[in-house]
Amino acid sequence: MLKLLILGGTTEASALARALAGDSRLDAILSFAGVTNAPRQPPIPWRKGGFGGVEGLVSYLQNAKIELLIDATHPFATQMKRHAAAASQIAKIPLLAILRPPWQPESGDRWTIVADMPEAARALGAAPRRVLLTIGQKDLAAFHAPQHRYIIRSVDPPVMPPPNAMLITARGPFDEAEEMALMTRHGIDILVTKNSGGTATAPKLAAARKLGVAVIMVARPPPPEMETVPDAEVALRWLNHAAARRGV
Ligand code: NAP
Repeated sequence: MLKLLILGGTTEASALARALAGDSRLDAILSFAGVTNAPRQPPIPWRKGGFGGVEGLVSYLQNAKIELLIDATHPFATQMKRHAAAASQIAKIPLLAILRPPWQPESGDRWTIVADMPEAARALGAAPRRVLLTIGQKDLAAFHAPQHRYIIRSVDPPVMPPPNAMLITARGPFDEAEEMALMTRHGIDILVTKNSGGTATAPKLAAARKLGVAVIMVARPPPPEMETVPDAEVALRWLNHAAARRGV
């Protein structure tokens, strides 16, 4: 069997895990950072928690005799991606990244594209706004301007929310009608989101378009140099080739 480690925490990692469940050629383990309180139970062996930097990941790969590394972390999980790229070089283990394409603006969208969270917070401006923040829980520090009302939606409740915030805990996928109802109910006039891409959370963009809600879109940080495919299906083809080459 060919042993592989999947760095997960995304829809793509879960899809790949489902596709590999019961595959007698590939012995896969799925890794979670452990940031969400209750990850969905995967159908393959899994582990949880950081490895301890590049050095820790190299030790893990060597001790577990991993032969292939798949980085299927979120497009904004930049540190883990850097560590995966470095560890694969040091341990001399092939690395494949699954990176879903970013969202593109469509006709009717009112996007302001910004480089990072501080710029997103500044782009809200001086006038009071009702802001829907869907950026996860670890990037909230920039959003503290007292004139705005923040509605924060995240998988787990944030540890340090801004004082003028209302919290909604929910896990996607969401549909467009739900998103429109949420924005209407809370009188949202601006949405702040990372350009995560993918279909699970895209309905908020369609809802914003229909309601004329402005969007502050935080652009993706550039990923490190690595061989990349757009989804789990293509990653599976890559793994099939790797398995065939190994004769398993
Ligand atoms: P990050 O900043 O790139 O990584 C921080 C540290 O978390 C890493 O150095 C590593 O610790 C640990 N880590 C990250 N992903 C891991 C994994 N799959 N398995 C084991 N350890 C992992 O990551 P992040 O942005 O906090 O994201 C954490 C997790 O949430 C990832 O699994 C990511 O796919 C998922 N996620 C992130 C976002 C987002 O917007 N950032 C959105 C949805 C899901 P060590 O250095 O100790 O190894």
